[in-house]
Amino acid sequence: MNDFAAPGPVQFDGAAVTVVGARVVGLSASAALAARGAKVTLVDRYDDEATTARAAQAAEHGATLRLGDDETLPAGTQLLIVSPGMPPSAPIVAAARAAGVPIWGDAELAWRLRAPLADGSHAPWLVVTGTNGKSTTVRMAESMLKQAGKNAVACGNIGYPVLDAVLRGQAGGEAGEPFEVLVIELSSYQLHWSSTLSPLAAVVLNLAPDHIDWHGSYAEYVNAKARAYENCQIAAIYNAADLETVRLVEEADVVQGCRAIGFTLGAPGLSMLGVVDGILADRAFVDDRRSSAAELGTVYDVEPNAPHNIANALAAAALVRAYGVEPTAVRDGLREFRPEPHRIAWVATIDGVDYVDDSKATNPHAASASIGAYDHVVWLAGGLAKGADFDDLVERHAKRLRGAVLFGAERHLVAEALRRRAPEVPVADLGGPGPDRAAEVMAEAVRAARAMAVTGDTVLLAPACASMDMFSSYGQRGDVFAEAVRELKAEVAE
Ligand code: ADP
Repeated sequence: MNDFAAPGPVQFDGAAVTVVGARVVGLSASAALAARGAKVTLVDRYDDEATTARAAQAAEHGATLRLGDDETLPAGTQLLIVSPGMPPSAPIVAAARAAGVPIWGDAELAWRLRAPLADGSHAPWLVVTGTNGKSTTVRMAESMLKQAGKNAVACGNIGYPVLDAVLRGQAGGEAGEPFEVLVIELSSYQLHWSSTLSPLAAVVLNLAPDHIDWHGSYAEYVNAKARAYENCQIAAIYNAADLETVRLVEEADVVQGCRAIGFTLGAPGLSMLGVVDGILADRAFVDDRRSSAAELGTVYDVEPNAPHNIANALAAAALVRAYGVEPTAVRDGLREFRPEPHRIAWVATIDGVDYVDDSKATNPHAASASIGAYDHVVWLAGGLAKGADFDDLVERHAKRLRGAVLFGAERHLVAEALRRRAPEVPVADLGGPGPDRAAEVMAEAVRAARAMAVTGDTVLLAPACASMDMFSSYGQRGDVFAEAVRELKAEVAE
C-alpha cells in the first residue's frame, strides 16, 4: 500500500501523484516518480510555448500533462508534490488539504526517495537554514568534506536541487557515482513543505524577519525554520548569539541522544565551538571536552574574516565534525574555500579607501553584519525593502557611518530611519528607479561616496534591500557597482 502520510520508505507503484510546476524540480520529480511506477500528472499555471516544451520531457516519461491550470486538484490524486516556492495559500494546496491528500515539497520527496549506498547505509544529510549565511556555510562545509576525501555535494536551495543530488546514480536520475554525504541548504519554503526529514546534523544560523508575506507572519517563518531540527540525529547546532535559535533547539523533537551544539565568536563553553585568541576551537567533538579543545584552524583561514563569516565557518565546522571529519580537513577546507561573488568582495582601493561589494546583503540583518565588520563606512543602500524596518540597523551603526548614499524605489524608508536614528549622518539621495538609469545612478553613487570617504574608510554596497526595482538581480547590481568603481579608479589614475 502507498501510505504517504506515514513516515519512512513508501511504494509509489500505481499511485496517482500530482506534481505542480513544470520547471527544474517538477521535471526531476516527475521523472523519478514515473520511474517508480507512479501515475504522474504534471500541472502548470502556464501553457505557453516554453512551458509546453519543458513539460514534453515529462510526457516522454509517461506523465499526463495538464497545462494552463495549477489551481484545481486532479481527481483521484493520492499525493501532491509542490514546487519550492508554492505558497500555503495556493488553491490547489487548499483543495489537497480539504481532500486529506498529503502534500510534500521537493526536500520531503528527496528524503523519501533515498536509496542505500553500496554498503547498505544512507548518505547522511547535513542541513543548513537561517536568514543569512546559508550558501556560504553550505559551501564551506562542502569544501571541508572534500578535503576529508568524501564524495560530498552542496545542494538544495543553491542551484543544484536536493532531489537531483539524491537521485544521482538511481532510476530516473542523472548518471554518476551516488554521493556519500549531502550538505543541503533548505529555505523556509522548503522546510514548510517537509515533515519527516531526519538530518544527521542541522543548523539554524540566525533568525530575523524575512519572507513574511509568503509565510503570513514572522511566527510562521520561525516555525518553518524550526523544522530543520526535527528528528535530528547527532547534532542540533545553534547560534549562541541568537537566543531564538537556542529556543528552537530546546523545543525540537530530536532523536534520542542527539546533542545540542553551540557556536560562538567568544570562548566556547562545553559542547560548543568558538574562538580563543584567534584560534577556532572545538569543545564539542573531542573526547575530553571538559578539559581540552581541538584546534580547527585560525580566523585567518576564513575569507573574508568578518565576524559573521567566522560564525559561518564555525557552523560549517560543527556540521562536519558531527559527521566525523578531522580538524585538519576543517582547516584545509577553509583555506581552499573561495567566497561566491558579491559577498563582501573587495573591488578596489582608491586614495586609501576600500570599495567593497556586498550586494548579496538584501535584508537589514545581512547589511548589519556587513557594516559591523568595518570601523568607518560610507554606506550605499536602497532598493525594495520587502516590508523591512531599518531603524535598528541605523541606530546600531550610527557611529560607524561616515555617510549614506541612497538610491532605488524605497530609499525614502532608509532615509527616514537615518533622520530618526542617526540625524548627524550625511545623506546623498540619488533617486531611482528605472533600469535604464541604473548604471548612471550607480556611477553617481560611487562619486558621492568618494566625496564623503576619508582615508582608511570603506565604501560598502550592502543595500539591505532587494534589487529588482533597478537591476535584474543582486548579481547585476554588484557588477554595475564594480564597473563604476573601476571607472572611477581609471579616472583618478589619469
Ligand atoms: P544566504 O544564502 O542565506 O542568502 P549568503 O551566504 O549568500 O547567505 O550571504 C548573504 C549575505 O548575508 C552576505 O552577503 C552577508 O551580507 C550576509 N551574511 C552572511 N553570513 C551572515 C551571518 N552569519 N549573519 C548575518 N549576515 C550574514
